[in-house]
This record gives sequence, structure tokens and C-alpha cells, in this order.
Amino acid sequence: MAGFDRAMFKKIAGVFAPERKRLLCCALCGSPDPADCGLCEACAAMMPEAPAKRSAPGIDGVRAAFAYEEPARTLILRFKFKNERYLAALFAYYMAALDDFPKEAVLVPVPLHEKRKKLRGFSQTGELCRELSRLTGRGTAFNILQRNRDTPPQTGLPFSERQENLKGAFSAGGAEGLSAILVDDVITSGATLAECARALRETGAGQVFALCACSAEKD
Ligand SMILES: [Zn+2]
Repeated sequence: MAGFDRAMFKKIAGVFAPERKRLLCCALCGSPDPADCGLCEACAAMMPEAPAKRSAPGIDGVRAAFAYEEPARTLILRFKFKNERYLAALFAYYMAALDDFPKEAVLVPVPLHEKRKKLRGFSQTGELCRELSRLTGRGTAFNILQRNRDTPPQTGLPFSERQENLKGAFSAGGAEGLSAILVDDVITSGATLAECARALRETGAGQVFALCACSAEKD
């Protein structure tokens, strides 16, 4: 077939066969028939391991699948900014493997501001939640956490200033008695997760964990 566009084929396959989440080609090199993770063996071996221990104030346990380095970084940028929504399945595959949280905890996406969601056309944390729920059977709570306002980029700021910027950025409701697993794409200082946890606890949430695709040690 002339002009066969493999990238477009992958996108279309993702749209019309949502139940078949297994990618048809390796998400990095495009070679056919990748493993269940969505990468071929050689590319999977290149993915950067996350630091063994990550923590954030107010979070009862943090897990991250990868360090925010190449080629994981490229995949995150494609996922977030190139509308390659199907990559949620790839990240969720690795994130689900780290899920050792209490059985009753539900998945809660770190909310994007509506303006950003509109610009992007979807919420990357929401997509990750949906995929994680499919893989782990966990419940989701999409509406218990809201973002009240957009926050300026936090790059380069120390934790205390980030925390100051984020004050009141999130509010929660209906979290009474829930244990939550906050789902995010990249954890940097942990200030966003800390502020989300604070909002959840203010309305009665119990334990709050975090499950992230990538962990960036520095900006
Ligand atoms: Zn590959």
C-alpha cells in the first residue's frame, strides 16, 4: 500500500479499537509486534529506571515507573503535547506493576486546569487513571479533586516557593473516608502532590498515595 503511515495507523487503531490497548508497533522504534508493554525488547531495555525511593510531604507512599530521562522523557512529551493519547497504555502498564497500595484505595487523577485540558483535548492524568483502572481493577474517583486556578510554571523554584504558589490551587469534596492514589505524569519536587493530598485530607480522606509515570529529581 503506497503511502502507508504507520504513526497514523497506530492512532486510528487506538481510536477504533479501544479494547485492544496493545500497541501494534513499538512506540519508540516502530518495529512490529512489541511486547505487552508497547515497546520492543531493545527499546524497553533503554527505559531509565526510577530512583528506588521517592517521597513527598503528606504522601503515604510514592511510586514512579521511570526516571524523567531519555527515552522516557520523549514519550511523556509526545503523550502530553503531541496528542498521542494511546501512550497512556504504555505508561500504565509499568505503573500498574508498582501498585502495592491498599486494596480499597481509589485512583484520583491530579487535575489539570480546564483551560489546559481544552487546549490539549484531553487530560493525561485522566487517561492514565482509566488505563490503570483497566489493568488493576481499581475504582476511580474523577470528581473529588478540582483545580481552582492555573499555576505558573514551577521550574527552578525551591519547594517552599512552589508550595506557596500552589496554595488554594486545589479543592476537594466527597473524599470522606476514602484512601486515594493520586495519579500524575511527572513528579518533580512533589509540591503539587502535597497540595492535592492536603485538599483531600481537609475533606476527610484517609491515606493518600501517589503513582507517577516519571520522577524528575531536578528541573
Ligand atoms: Zn523498539
